[in-house]
Amino acid sequence: MTNNKHTAIVIGAGISGLKSCIELSKNGIDTLMLEARDRLGGRLHTVTTESGLKVDLGASWFHDCLYNPLLKKSLEKGNVEIYFDNGRLNVHDKDIGLVDDNYKIRPVVDEMSDYLQYVCAQMAQSDDMSVKNAALRYLKDKKNTLTECQIKLAPQLLRYYEMWIGSSWNMLSARLIAGDNHQGRDAMVTNGYRTVYDNELEELYEIMGRRDLVGSQILLQKVVFKIEFNDRTKEIAVHTRDYNGKIETFFCEYLVCSVPLSVLQLEDKKEQGHIEWNPPLPLSLTNKLQGITYSQLGKVFFEFDHVFWPTDADRFFCIPEFDHEITKCIEANTDTKFEDLKQDPVLENSPKPWTQPILFLNVYRGTGRPVLLALTSSPLTRYIESHEIDDFWPVFRPALANIANLPDSCIPRPTNVVTSNWSADPFARGSYLGCAVGDLIDEAIDAFTEAKDVFDGKGRVRFVGEALIEEGNGCAHGAWMTAIRETEKIIKAINRGKL
Ligand SMILES: Cc1cc2nc3c(=O)[nH]c(=O)nc-3n(C[C@H](O)[C@H](O)[C@H](O)COP(=O)(O)OP(=O)(O)OC[C@H]3O[C@@H](n4cnc5c(N)ncnc54)[C@H](O)[C@@H]3O)c2cc1C
Repeated sequence: MTNNKHTAIVIGAGISGLKSCIELSKNGIDTLMLEARDRLGGRLHTVTTESGLKVDLGASWFHDCLYNPLLKKSLEKGNVEIYFDNGRLNVHDKDIGLVDDNYKIRPVVDEMSDYLQYVCAQMAQSDDMSVKNAALRYLKDKKNTLTECQIKLAPQLLRYYEMWIGSSWNMLSARLIAGDNHQGRDAMVTNGYRTVYDNELEELYEIMGRRDLVGSQILLQKVVFKIEFNDRTKEIAVHTRDYNGKIETFFCEYLVCSVPLSVLQLEDKKEQGHIEWNPPLPLSLTNKLQGITYSQLGKVFFEFDHVFWPTDADRFFCIPEFDHEITKCIEANTDTKFEDLKQDPVLENSPKPWTQPILFLNVYRGTGRPVLLALTSSPLTRYIESHEIDDFWPVFRPALANIANLPDSCIPRPTNVVTSNWSADPFARGSYLGCAVGDLIDEAIDAFTEAKDVFDGKGRVRFVGEALIEEGNGCAHGAWMTAIRETEKIIKAINRGKL
């Protein structure tokens, strides 16, 4: 039997939910954590492949290594293995093969990035445009200084931004990308990001003085579908449904909601994960939910029985074929623009090879195992999620042949393929906060951080998670930091009450 009344309830057992639970418990606050899935970790999800390699379907890297507090803590703990995989990046084009430095493409891409910094970062919200349109503007402006080859390849290489976010360049906001400053290197975790999560869990066990918390303080398979506030008793009722349809209600005075904003965006009660709020969430928050989008970064791990690709590079970026519409627009010398998309279209059929950007990470370099990790953006991600290997292998095989400088027929079929499924996952509904043209991320962060009109306006409901922070936005360490920031408010409120 679990106790149904608690001082605080945390919804979601991802890194921000767990950190919230730790901070509250550390301060002696009786806290229950409710998780919809039948596992812990949320978007930190390490799985073990058939050959025994631990691979991460969610977060893999410590970003912003210059200040990342989660990296610092992990290094102090000493059990998290990392590999800085920002060594050589090989660029591959369908016709050229390996694009060497004498094509002078990278300096042009650097200049395009500077263009984003200087022109787009200052742009008014209303003038925002997609990265593709920003690239077009740059090309129109600078065409007299560029070779035909640079005009063809540089914009395609600029699509590297897609591999950061997971949305196509038709969607990505040039203004927001230009303002996205990372601090420091990226370190790939090679023994599973779950180790980072487990270290946090260990801390909770130590605070509580016991290890059997799953089933008592942490409840799995509890899908929260309704949150109600009783203004008379000042109690918050959290209604959950388990996988057998059994309904249970838990009560608290303070609530930490760590579900992704993509889940909070759901309007249809029938959608799994949807949460009904009674009284409803104020317009000051729901309006902000309409001003954000979630991205679709995808991961495909290809395991082989031997390495057939170059072992001296960390990354291989296969750039898509040149888009001839771009030349037409440059030549037209008018204000013609491409349509900025709010969502990428769904691919009905397998995309032709070399039409989508694919970044391969050479997992061999960090682990010594014959594995490649492909990062994809939408719309390819969603195609992969809903299809079998036979459907999408034809997209990857020509790219691998190009990387290995071998005929297609010499590329072995992988012995095992593991793919992520975040877009279709009802409790994620995407990879993390994206940045589409017109998105108002800062406004959403401010509104949810204040969250002042929820229920009785006393700040008893706090929102945490990857989306709700500027530094570290979208990242695991950012999510972790929101938990410290928001639980401090609850701790202060409770301590004030005691005085
Ligand atoms: C493919 C991919 C690659 C990434 N790469 C990196 C990386 O390299 N580095 C990095 O720092 N970050 C990366 N991230 C982002 C990182 O994984 C997230 O920022 C972080 O894990 C988010 O933690 P969170 O606690 O905010 O949310 P989550 O981990 O999503 O936790 C929220 C929890 O709420 C639960 N939940 C949802 N709805 C309900 C409901 N109705 N009732 C109860 N529970 C519910 C969910 O099941 C989940 O467990 C990546 C993410 C993806 C998907």
